[in-house]
Amino acid sequence: MKIICIGRNYSEHAKELNNEVPAEPVFFMKPDTALLLNNKPFFLPGFSNNVQHEVEVVVRINRLGKHIEEKFAHRYYSEIGLGIDFTARDVQQKCKEKGLPWEIAKAFDQSAPLGSFVPIDKLPDKNSINFELLVNGKPAQKGNTAEMIFTIDKIIAYVSQFITLKIGDLIYTGTPSGVGPVKIGDRLTGKLEGMLMFDFNIK
Ligand code: MG
Repeated sequence: MKIICIGRNYSEHAKELNNEVPAEPVFFMKPDTALLLNNKPFFLPGFSNNVQHEVEVVVRINRLGKHIEEKFAHRYYSEIGLGIDFTARDVQQKCKEKGLPWEIAKAFDQSAPLGSFVPIDKLPDKNSINFELLVNGKPAQKGNTAEMIFTIDKIIAYVSQFITLKIGDLIYTGTPSGVGPVKIGDRLTGKLEGMLMFDFNIK
């Protein structure tokens, strides 16, 4: 199982980090050891002083596929989930400045909390999915998948040109604006169309 993450998929978020809006999807990966399930607490790692939350809609691949055409991409997933792409922003900034890969800032243990999934046919509009992150009960990030620069189907078509997608693979589809640091004692709650998807604490 692999975790593929899309960067800079919401223009407001690209702007808040002074990144260019990309012409093609930007993706990177996390290992399976990054997964954090069942609302288990996230322990702040010691190597960063600025771990930030990025709430993201997550797609779970349910068929094997390579070179998937965009028009057939919808056949490769049937559920939508919500997760966090934790990012050690200070470490990432150093990587960017040196032109190095982002893995140590993105792929560390527990950096991919994952909540529950909802069948697509239970959603009011699969092309316009509202989601939000609350930190200590207060709104921190709000997004709608209609604001994505690259749709889920485009992402699947693009990534599968390079990497075979397998059953159980996860795609984190990018974060809207409002990212920010987490601290010990914070509580992170994720909702999708008002449904509770995850709820866990920072330790
Ligand atoms: Mg992200």
